[in-house]
Amino acid sequence: MASSLDRLMEGNRKFVAGKNTELMAKLAKGQQPYAAVLTCADSRVSPEIIFGGKGLGEIFVVRNAGNIADPIALGSIEYAVEHLHAPLVLVLGHESCGAVAATCAGGHAPSHIAAVVKAIAPSAQKAGNNVPKAVEENVRTQVEAVKKSPIVSHLMHEGKVEVRGAVYSLATGEVKLI
Ligand SMILES: [Zn+2]
Repeated sequence: MASSLDRLMEGNRKFVAGKNTELMAKLAKGQQPYAAVLTCADSRVSPEIIFGGKGLGEIFVVRNAGNIADPIALGSIEYAVEHLHAPLVLVLGHESCGAVAATCAGGHAPSHIAAVVKAIAPSAQKAGNNVPKAVEENVRTQVEAVKKSPIVSHLMHEGKVEVRGAVYSLATGEVKLI
């Protein structure tokens, strides 16, 4: 059985062999993503796939466990809207999010997982530790955090940026705006 690293490198060889040379040459000069998406690091929630795009150059993707608008995520989003002029920021939570479920379950979170749980805890509490409700509540909380960014807020007032929240269904593949 190929090791994970072999699998990654083999995948890249196939990608290079089948790449869209014209698109890659264009993208090597710059990017103009049509949206920025803050979503979970979960392997089942890849924006490049679930939004039906061609993959490269379309969506500026920021990911971490629990789709948390922490300072680094906010800095990344600010870069996307200010420098790349992305007109939309979508915060995308998902069904059965492990980070949200762990927070709702309580208990000890070791090492840096504690930071994830700490960020989600207020939303989980507000949702009575009900996972589906907490997923939505966490999206609302992170949307508010994005809107509080001075750069995002300024561009929103100028009508240049919209910030929305949504939840992705693992089972159906549907994205529901909230
Ligand atoms: Zn998740």
